[in-house]
Amino acid sequence: MGKVLIIGAGGVGTVVTHKVAQNPEVFTDIMLASRTKSKCDAIATDVKNRYGVEIKTASVDAEIVDELVKLLKEFRPELVINVALPYQDLTIMDACLEAGVNYLDTANYEPKDEAHFEYSWQWAYKNRFEKAGLTAILGCGFDPGVTSVFTAYAAKHHFDEIQYLDIVDCNAGDHGKPFATNFNPEINIREVTQRGKYWENGQWVETEPHEIHKPLTYPEIGPKESYLIYHEELESLVKNFPTIKRARFWMTFGQEYLTHLRVIQNIGMARIDEVEFNGQKIVPIQFLKAVLPNPGDLGENYKGWTSIGCRIRGIKDGKEKTYYIFNNCSHEAAYKETGTQGVSYTTGVPAMIGAMMFLQGKWKKPGVFNVEEFDPDPFMEQLNKQGLPWQELIDVDLEL
Ligand code: NDP
Repeated sequence: MGKVLIIGAGGVGTVVTHKVAQNPEVFTDIMLASRTKSKCDAIATDVKNRYGVEIKTASVDAEIVDELVKLLKEFRPELVINVALPYQDLTIMDACLEAGVNYLDTANYEPKDEAHFEYSWQWAYKNRFEKAGLTAILGCGFDPGVTSVFTAYAAKHHFDEIQYLDIVDCNAGDHGKPFATNFNPEINIREVTQRGKYWENGQWVETEPHEIHKPLTYPEIGPKESYLIYHEELESLVKNFPTIKRARFWMTFGQEYLTHLRVIQNIGMARIDEVEFNGQKIVPIQFLKAVLPNPGDLGENYKGWTSIGCRIRGIKDGKEKTYYIFNNCSHEAAYKETGTQGVSYTTGVPAMIGAMMFLQGKWKKPGVFNVEEFDPDPFMEQLNKQGLPWQELIDVDLEL
């Protein structure tokens, strides 16, 4: 009972390992596997020192299905928690099908040679998971993840019809570095430099990168310039809540961050194609990752808060209603608890809760699902208990 394999030993994998170890009544047997086993061992030692919980470790290349299947057949987990990179989603899903193991992740599949993410690749596994009687839970971090559950909770308890959805993601923290990304730099830079996109009146509207922006006021933080970007949960939310007329995603960026980003792009360091360097082929953005600060190490001096939530307008009992649901997370508290910063924390805690929902049979049905397709209530209850308490404001000015 409660046997899980966590794949990926980065910032998010660290938090997931801490959180599963903090819930021994649900997670009884835990293995952490990643490409570099020494990273798994370091996390396992820290977790053992803090909670006295034993974590098994292994090395695996999650792009090689046979290697994964071998590990899955040896360890026989009930669930894989995939917190490696989006490039590995499909090989891990293939291996889960072959070994008869359930699946959960926090980011949708992206091919390496194209900065493009969409759910179609993973939704295409629906029949195979259904036939195998296995559950795949997609996008169970904070955004996607908690923001999708917030929307499902709003639809269940606060609205007859959700019409306008704005997901607002503010990181008002300061890590003291001139430039660093809060999660994997390669994935992060690919995400924020692409063209903007939002849903309006039944179709996608594209914008130039960062073309649309405005100051939004975040609770306990104040106004921050917020930029419309495309984010993956919009795709599943407009499908699962067809009353939505407009869905947008906003993220705050500091001027210093945007200046660095512009320079990185202008000098070609954000390129994802191979270039010839000293007789070997390198991908500039992968080289950049090697010289940028490791997101998992930013925690020590990180001060301030993240604030992520959903601002929703719609109809309840024939009347217009506004609703704002959010979580504020302290980088310092996250570091104290798990040794990582708030962005890894806000992603890893929901991944653990999703795994808990599965193991307790609350989120378990054959097929491939986005998190908003499950009952939000038990997940919302756990957010309050596991370090990500949420607050709601009703009939307020949404600014949007
Ligand atoms: P990191 O880069 O810190 O960690 C990624 C880990 O995956 C590393 O341990 C890395 O190993 C491992 N890995 C990479 N390739 C392979 C492979 N082929 N086989 C096995 N292991 C591999 O990333 P983060 O922890 O910051 O992010 C993890 C995931 O969480 C990403 O998919 C990211 O997109 C997602 N995320 C989701 C968010 C959400 O809210 N939904 C928010 C933030 C992140 P090695 O150490 O050897 O490189």
